[in-house]
Amino acid sequence: MTNSTPNPDALEIIPLGGMGEIGKNMFAYRYGDEILVVDGGLAFPEAHQLGIDLIIPKIDYLQEHAGLIKGWILTHGHEDHIGSLPYIMPRLPRVPMYSAALTLGLLREKLGEFGIKEADTDLREVETDAQVRIGKHFVVDFFRITHSIPDNMGYVLTTPVGKVVHTGDFKIDRTPTDGKLSQLDRIEKAGDEGVLLLISDSTNAERPGWSTSEAEVAENLEALIKAARGRVFITTFASQTHRVQNIIKSCEKLGRRVIMEGRSMLKYAQVSQQLGYMEFRDPLVTSDEVGDLQDSQMLYICTGSQGQPMSVLSRLAFGNHAKIALKRGDTVILSSSPIPGNEEAVNTVINRLYEIGVDVLYPPNQKVHASGHGSREEQLHILNLARPKYFLPWHGEPRHQINHARLAQTATRPPQRTLVAKNGDIVKLTQDDFKVVGTVPAGAVYVDGLGVGDINDDIIMDRMSMSQEGVLIITAVLHPTPHIELVSRGFVRSNRELETQIRKVALEAVEQGTREKKRLEDIRDDMYGAVRRFVRKVTGRNPVLIPLLVD
Ligand SMILES: [Zn+2]
Ligand SMILES: [Zn+2]
Repeated sequence: MTNSTPNPDALEIIPLGGMGEIGKNMFAYRYGDEILVVDGGLAFPEAHQLGIDLIIPKIDYLQEHAGLIKGWILTHGHEDHIGSLPYIMPRLPRVPMYSAALTLGLLREKLGEFGIKEADTDLREVETDAQVRIGKHFVVDFFRITHSIPDNMGYVLTTPVGKVVHTGDFKIDRTPTDGKLSQLDRIEKAGDEGVLLLISDSTNAERPGWSTSEAEVAENLEALIKAARGRVFITTFASQTHRVQNIIKSCEKLGRRVIMEGRSMLKYAQVSQQLGYMEFRDPLVTSDEVGDLQDSQMLYICTGSQGQPMSVLSRLAFGNHAKIALKRGDTVILSSSPIPGNEEAVNTVINRLYEIGVDVLYPPNQKVHASGHGSREEQLHILNLARPKYFLPWHGEPRHQINHARLAQTATRPPQRTLVAKNGDIVKLTQDDFKVVGTVPAGAVYVDGLGVGDINDDIIMDRMSMSQEGVLIITAVLHPTPHIELVSRGFVRSNRELETQIRKVALEAVEQGTREKKRLEDIRDDMYGAVRRFVRKVTGRNPVLIPLLVD
């Protein structure tokens, strides 16, 4: 079903990413002839999406209705909320884009890397509790809410049909590192006035209780750093500004100098420091400047929390870092947990670290990581503050969305209706109606190298077949005497007998076709079919076959 004609007097909520998945968050609100866009994130590929660097949302709907877009708001600076913007913004009109200082700072850095000029954008910095009017129909009241990056915001959206509360990504940290508590009173106030729809973060809908506070993680890390005798290496998400700040403070207290390694780690630290979100008493040193520091005076903060092959921690674990080599007596702390899909890579790194003989510390054995997303009690607390008429679980896979939907039924005043939406759904909202009324194109656009959208699922399938079964190129040279040449990769080890047989089968097909005066394409197809059947019969394999005919 496709239907993108607007419903008069209804608000439409159109998720273009972030529903049924954790990643590439983006959605549009439409009322009449006005559209408000929220976020523009990316997703990282799954293991089977070979060679794909990253995934961005399909924005056909916005391109088709580009003239209606009145404004854009960004909740926070994580990649799954702003990572697609350098790809998407140039394809959409320049409209006012509102967000807080750190989010815009990180975005500017990104746009700069892509050569996008500030003049081609309209970035408008707002306080985390600002009110912004967008178009004739939308009023956005931002509120601060704690998460794993500073300047994170949710908002109350006032529209002609009623109020929508969107939590954004959140956890309710009662002891946040920067002392800036969530402005939950804003949600409560909206609840008092009447919330038509709540859109809330479902990430941890399967985790009971409350998520651990960042302060507790900081304490645990400090105790481990204190106990370590040699060098300490800590990896975490580069965007974990608060945690990095806490580690730096602990080092200042314990007399260690901080050495930061890895491009993204340095980039986040630099932007955060420039904007006043991070302070260092002692300047950071590089691995070239450690000079005569003792092992017990050094702490490295490095990239690699997800086992990424080129990251600093992976290179250290595999012994191919140009400047640093791990040794017995070193302590390595993984202050992170693997994002689904990265478990194997992280596991491999951990095993290598054990083999080297360093002390490896990681969750859950050590409480050195806390989720940036609230667990069930926090989600329930939000539901009880907002008391929405309708509920839309968001930022989760179906298991998270559905468990969040079930949790909502236990609220003091459960929502009258909950929808588990998919990307591309047109969710219609009025005072007494809340349903999916159509769809728009939505899905994944693959980015590979410099190519955006030039790779589709067929190509991914080819890559998978090639990676699993190899490639066999069969060239039939027709003149002067017909003969066959074979080239294979990843198929079988050089096997004269098999090659002779394949040549024979291919040649027979070619000769028969020539005798019957078939068209060249048909001869090629015959050869393809004959070789495919033969290879499957004698090897039980199904390599990607590329038949070529040279006349
Ligand atoms: Zn986030
Ligand atoms: Zn997120």
